[in-house]
Amino acid sequence: MKTLVIGAGAAGLAAAQDLQKANHPVLVLEARHRVGGRIHTDRSFAAVPIELGAEFIHSSQVPTYPLPQQFGLQTIHFTQQEDTLVRLPSGNLRSVAEVGCVQRGFSDIRAVDWPEAVGEESLAAYLERNRLTGQKVPYKLQEYISDFDHPGLLSAGAALEFLYDKSAEEGDYRILDGYD
Ligand SMILES: Cc1cc2nc3c(=O)[nH]c(=O)nc-3n(C[C@H](O)[C@H](O)[C@H](O)COP(=O)(O)OP(=O)(O)OC[C@H]3O[C@@H](n4cnc5c(N)ncnc54)[C@H](O)[C@@H]3O)c2cc1C
Repeated sequence: MKTLVIGAGAAGLAAAQDLQKANHPVLVLEARHRVGGRIHTDRSFAAVPIELGAEFIHSSQVPTYPLPQQFGLQTIHFTQQEDTLVRLPSGNLRSVAEVGCVQRGFSDIRAVDWPEAVGEESLAAYLERNRLTGQKVPYKLQEYISDFDHPGLLSAGAALEFLYDKSAEEGDYRILDGYD
């Protein structure tokens, strides 16, 4: 009996790899003309790989951390405060550290007592209930939303865990040859 895996994103490929390791026949079906899903490295217009989707290994605590070494890929370490630029509504670019000074952003995020999530409410409901809309959405939650999904489909509880995740202080790792 063969198992069909729908979708060749990271989850589908990992499931297929596990099945294959267990000597179970598997077929991966992908709707697009490429594998990777939300991991999408573009090499068509610049001398360096440009990440259109996932870009970072978020700390040494995540399951993806050992993979680059396993495959002989070089990584660089950095912190988002130093490296990441945010475009303000005025169009100006500022570092995350600078933005942290002008809005409840990255640098002081854990100093704020964010209200707790109620039951299984969505992130959209949480933000609405606490009047955290527009520019008041904390930078780290904006990042969470852009990485994962529409706030109506995300769990507020999981998003708050991400906000307070201590491993974020360690910084991130970027794969020099491209995330794909
Ligand atoms: C802009 C952006 C930045 C991100 N940055 C990071 C980061 O820095 N670090 C990090 O760890 N994560 C990051 N993420 C999150 C990470 O990319 C995702 O969590 C991960 O890639 C999701 O993998 P997945 O396999 O669950 O889903 P997907 O990658 O969405 O894969 C699903 C696949 O299934 C296919 N599919 C769907 N329906 C069907 C169907 N009916 N038939 C056939 N195929 C189908 C899709 O075409 C797709 O290829 C980022 C995401 C985005 C969008």
